[in-house]
Amino acid sequence: ARKFFVGGNFKMNGSISSIKEIVGNLNNATLDPSVEVVVSPSYLHLLLVRENLRKEIEVASQNVYDKPNGAFTGEVSVSQLKDSGINWAILGHSERRTILRESDEVVALKTKYATDNGVSVIWCCGESLEEREAGKTIDVVSKQLAALKAQISDWSKIVIAYEPIWAIGTGKVATTEQAQEVHKAIREWLKANVSDKVADETRILYGGSVNEKNCGELSKQADIDGFLVGGASLKPAFVDIINCQK
Ligand code: 13P
Repeated sequence: ARKFFVGGNFKMNGSISSIKEIVGNLNNATLDPSVEVVVSPSYLHLLLVRENLRKEIEVASQNVYDKPNGAFTGEVSVSQLKDSGINWAILGHSERRTILRESDEVVALKTKYATDNGVSVIWCCGESLEEREAGKTIDVVSKQLAALKAQISDWSKIVIAYEPIWAIGTGKVATTEQAQEVHKAIREWLKANVSDKVADETRILYGGSVNEKNCGELSKQADIDGFLVGGASLKPAFVDIINCQK
């Protein structure tokens, strides 16, 4: 069975004091032990979080570069992350694909470099509103997956997050049917293009306006194996999302 997974993407939010408060809340909370939890603060707060957060919660960078250390101003390396106890990275988030113009190929190369070198990746995909309305959702996600597959052979360090762009930060959560339909299509794509084993074992998270009220229904869908939470991960209600199956 796939272990339920809840990620918190803090994005470019938080101050030292607000991050300390979030860490304190998580440290004091009773968390469902059957859930894997990973939180992702900005670069500047990674060490602060890693040093103070309970050890059963892992910490993720919001990006990582695909070269060893060197002359790459503004980037962070896999070895620097591992040296600081950061074993995860989020890659291919739509905000990086659209605002920072990262291509499918760049995202795939970074995912390969990270996973080959021992950093697990929450790899994100998803369609825009225009693409959904044009009926292209599955095509868009399949194309993103194909770019990933072109680089990846070992899928064991990859968690997929399906995040429809129109649902991110908008309060407009996908319906359980909309989410389940795409999650099922992603799993079928993995089955057809990678292997039965990878299709069966890979966690597929939903992201986009997840909160403590809508998480319960979503979590019951057959192909939804957890969440990647943005705004609500900065709030005490994040604990209720982690515990949504109890
Ligand atoms: P929100 O939960 O704020 O909609 O953000 C989702 C997201 O982008 C997580 O990576």
